[in-house]
Amino acid sequence: MINQKTIKAYALKNAIEHNGKAVVGNILNSLFKEGLKKTGIKKIIPEINQVLKQINTLSIDEQKKQFNDLQKLIKHRKTRQGLPELPNTKKAKVITRFAPSASGPLTLGHILTIGLNLLYVKKYGGKFYVRIEDTNPDNIYKPAYKMIQKESKWLTSNKAIIVIQSKRMILYYKYAEKLINKNSAYICTCSPEKFKELSLKKKPCPCRNLNKKENLQRWKKMLDKKGYGQGQAVLRFKSNLQDKNPAMRDFPLARINITKHPLQGNKYKVWPLMNLSVTVDDIEMKITHIIRGKDHRDNAKRQKLIYKALGKEKQYPWISFIGRLHFKDLEMSTTKMRQAIEQGKYAGWDDPRLPTATSLKKRGYKPEGFWKFVEQKGISEVDKVISQKDFFEVLDMFNK
Ligand SMILES: [Zn+2]
Repeated sequence: MINQKTIKAYALKNAIEHNGKAVVGNILNSLFKEGLKKTGIKKIIPEINQVLKQINTLSIDEQKKQFNDLQKLIKHRKTRQGLPELPNTKKAKVITRFAPSASGPLTLGHILTIGLNLLYVKKYGGKFYVRIEDTNPDNIYKPAYKMIQKESKWLTSNKAIIVIQSKRMILYYKYAEKLINKNSAYICTCSPEKFKELSLKKKPCPCRNLNKKENLQRWKKMLDKKGYGQGQAVLRFKSNLQDKNPAMRDFPLARINITKHPLQGNKYKVWPLMNLSVTVDDIEMKITHIIRGKDHRDNAKRQKLIYKALGKEKQYPWISFIGRLHFKDLEMSTTKMRQAIEQGKYAGWDDPRLPTATSLKKRGYKPEGFWKFVEQKGISEVDKVISQKDFFEVLDMFNK
């Protein structure tokens, strides 16, 4: 029988799967499976709307909590095989991206995320960017550039459009200036301690109230080789100082780092932080859909604020957050793998015991095998723990 509780169960399930906002049409589809007749639609829609009013304002965590209590009411609890349809694909093709850091080569974890994005691009048509994040000169492993490019090409049969962020610095500067001009960003010269102290009290630092002209002068001084030194000035986004999460308050967009960059040398001293570079690139590349780890939820919020400040809110992509696949007995950190290689514990990045793309390729795995695995696993926000043995048993089956 379809009662208010059943509607709520499906609405919560739908909301959790769609970024916290349930959609009437999806809930109707589920209710048909519960026995709803076409003639009953008119009567039930107001009831659904009433439920949506209640749940769409809840945080995802709260939705999950409530869903936990109601999920027994759901008949078709098993998720179907294959990936769900993406919304907003009627007019636009799917333009999506994968953004590995230049700190190491691609691992199995990366491959699975690439798979989700790539499968959608294959299904709907569109573009797939691999954007190498290298705007933190302290965190770059130079050989990673070549490795990421080579492995991305292999995995995507050359479909990946490869972009290196440090070659787009002028663009990030342009947007930083735009934000200053819109009074949405300012240059803070306070010590990190002082800024933090004020921020925790939800108070502005003295720099926040400087006018546009003064901020543009400071920006010049930031860029100028003889201007501010490392640690003396930070470009900050003007967010809401009352935000309940202190890390969201006036978060940084760019900073000075004089470490020599492996590709750019000493050409630049001001480096964008990920929220600025990611937003600029997503806007410029007209990204339509993003599938990313749920650990990026706060960053997604920050990036949405920047879109809004730039008047690009309508262009903001559809985002799906995914849980991680944790391997009980496999190390995925490239930093740790690198240390072990340097200590002679492994022969190199292609050592068959390492879960790197280059090693998996050498072992005979084919991209199609991974994609079948990804398709079967589907999209889920729930973290999963798996052992190496269980994982490779399934992968081997697909790789035949
Ligand atoms: Zn300040």
